[in-house]
Amino acid sequence: MLLTKEEVRSIFLDSGALMHGHFKLSSGRHSSEYWEKFWVLQYPDRVQLLCSEIARRFALDNIEVVLGPTTGGILLAFEVARQLGVRALYAETEGDKRALRRGLQLAPNTRTLIVDDIMTTGLAVQECLDLAAIHQALVVGTAVLVDRSGGTVNLGTRQEALLTIDVVSFDPSECPLCQSDAPITKPGSRKLS
Ligand SMILES: [Zn+2]
Repeated sequence: MLLTKEEVRSIFLDSGALMHGHFKLSSGRHSSEYWEKFWVLQYPDRVQLLCSEIARRFALDNIEVVLGPTTGGILLAFEVARQLGVRALYAETEGDKRALRRGLQLAPNTRTLIVDDIMTTGLAVQECLDLAAIHQALVVGTAVLVDRSGGTVNLGTRQEALLTIDVVSFDPSECPLCQSDAPITKPGSRKLS
């Protein structure tokens, strides 16, 4: 079943994962929108639905392994792999990069799909690409639920995003929400400077 961009956006909105208001982002900039992926990741049935769209897009690509970065990415890797009937692997942090821990194996030329939840700078997905390269895996493509970069991140491979958005943010001195005296929220789980 095909999932449209509008349906993906509704799932985030209905889960409270897409909030509207006046937010101070971790970058220090202000925005009228805030995305908290864990609000959608708390609903397994919604995650299952979102992952079905990723699985649908790669159904004919003979994927052998789905690789995702901690923490949200491993939930998606698990579910996409379950739907494709293949193995999931988890890219965990080790020092300043990603590694397969606990002796888990990724053999050379394994047809690998990399998944993650929300891509902003593409760093976590790039780290998974680096990890796949170390193991000489064959990366078929990458898929994220939301590309917040507005499509500007180029990973040099097939890239799928269920939703691509351009987050509008303001320097605090130029923020129209500040000028209208809207109370500001500092979203909970982020470190704020
Ligand atoms: Zn502001």
